[in-house]
Amino acid sequence: MSSFGKPPPLSREVAGSNSLAWVKLFQKPGAVGGGGGLGKSYQPGSMLSLALTKGLLNEPGQNSCFLNSAVQVLWQLDIFRRSLRQLPGHFCLGDACIFCALKSIFSQFQQSQERALPSDSLRHALAETFKDEQRFQLGHMDDAAECFENILERIHLHIVSDTATEACTSKSCITHQKFAMILYEQFVCRSCGASSDPLPFTELVHYVSTTALCQQVDRVLGQNDRIRSDMFGELLQAANTIGDLRNCPSNCGQSIKIRRVLMNRPEIVTIGFVWDAEQSDLTEDVVRSLGPHLNLSGLFNRVTDENAKRSELHLVGMICFSSKHYSAFAYHSKSSKWIFFDDATVKEVIPGHQFSRSSHIK
Ligand SMILES: [Zn+2]
Ligand SMILES: [Zn+2]
Ligand SMILES: [Zn+2]
Repeated sequence: MSSFGKPPPLSREVAGSNSLAWVKLFQKPGAVGGGGGLGKSYQPGSMLSLALTKGLLNEPGQNSCFLNSAVQVLWQLDIFRRSLRQLPGHFCLGDACIFCALKSIFSQFQQSQERALPSDSLRHALAETFKDEQRFQLGHMDDAAECFENILERIHLHIVSDTATEACTSKSCITHQKFAMILYEQFVCRSCGASSDPLPFTELVHYVSTTALCQQVDRVLGQNDRIRSDMFGELLQAANTIGDLRNCPSNCGQSIKIRRVLMNRPEIVTIGFVWDAEQSDLTEDVVRSLGPHLNLSGLFNRVTDENAKRSELHLVGMICFSSKHYSAFAYHSKSSKWIFFDDATVKEVIPGHQFSRSSHIK
C-alpha cells in the first residue's frame, strides 16, 4: 500500500488492522456480456454458459478462502479476464510469479473438466512474494480486499517492471488502465477562498467506513427522506469526508471539508468496506444501504473527465466476510446470472431464494 504515495487515512487503517472488509466491484454496463447479445442467446439449462464457473479448493488448514474469493471475482470480471488474455508477455519471476500462477488458474478454469481446482500455485507465489513482509503466508488467513489489491499491484509490476506506480501510464497495464482511480485531494475554503496544495494519489480500492456509511444513511432517513438506489455514490462520499475537517489554510477561522477530485475514468471501481468494530451490529443497515449502481460524480466531489461524469457503473462482484470466512458473489455476464462462490462450492443465486444459514451474507 505504501507504493501509492500517501493513501487516504482509512486505507492506512485497513493495512494495519487486518480488518474485516467487503469488496464491491462495479464496471461499465457496456462492458458486461459484450453488449447484452450474449445474455439473450443463453438457453436456460445450458451447461455451456456456466461451464466456466468452477470452484477453488480449500483443504483443511490451507485457509485460502480469501485468495479464492479474490480470484473468482477477477475471473468473472470480463474486462480483466480479456485484458489478461491479450497481454503478450510479462517480466516473469519463475516459481514466485503471481502473474504465471494466475494465468495458469485462468486457463484451468477454461480447460479443466474438474468442478473444483486447486489454487495452490497462486497461494505459493503469493507467500513467496510477501515472505519478507510476513504476509499471505501459507496456512494463514488474510484479508481478501488486500489480497485483491496486491494481486493488481503485482500485475502492474509484471507488466511495467517499474515501482513508480504513481505515474503509470502504460497502455498495457491492466491495473492502472482499468482499475486505478487517479485522484487529488485538497482543502478549499468557501469563506475566504484559500486552498491547500493539491495532493495527488492513486487508489485501486476505495475504502469506506461502515460506521460512517450507516451514520449517513441515518442522516438521510432523519430528514424524512428515503434511500434511493441512485444515492449510493453520494452516501459513500459523505461517509468518506465526514469528520475530515481542517482549519482554513489562511486561518480565517473557518473549518473546511476535504475535497476529492477524480481525474480519470476507471472502468472498474472497487469499494472496500471497513468494519471499524470487530463486533458490528450494522450488518443489516449496511446491506440495506448498498446500491446496485454507482455514479462516479456522486462518489467524488468533482469528476474532471466528461465521460466519467456521465458513466454509471453496475455492480458485478462482491466479496463477503462472515464467521471468519470469505466467499464471493459475481455476475456471470454470459448467462446474466449471479453466482455464489464458497471455495469448492459454486451455486447459482436464485432471486428471492434464501441461502442456507451457512452461506448467508453476514
Ligand atoms: Zn511469470
Ligand atoms: Zn501500471
Ligand atoms: Zn478561509
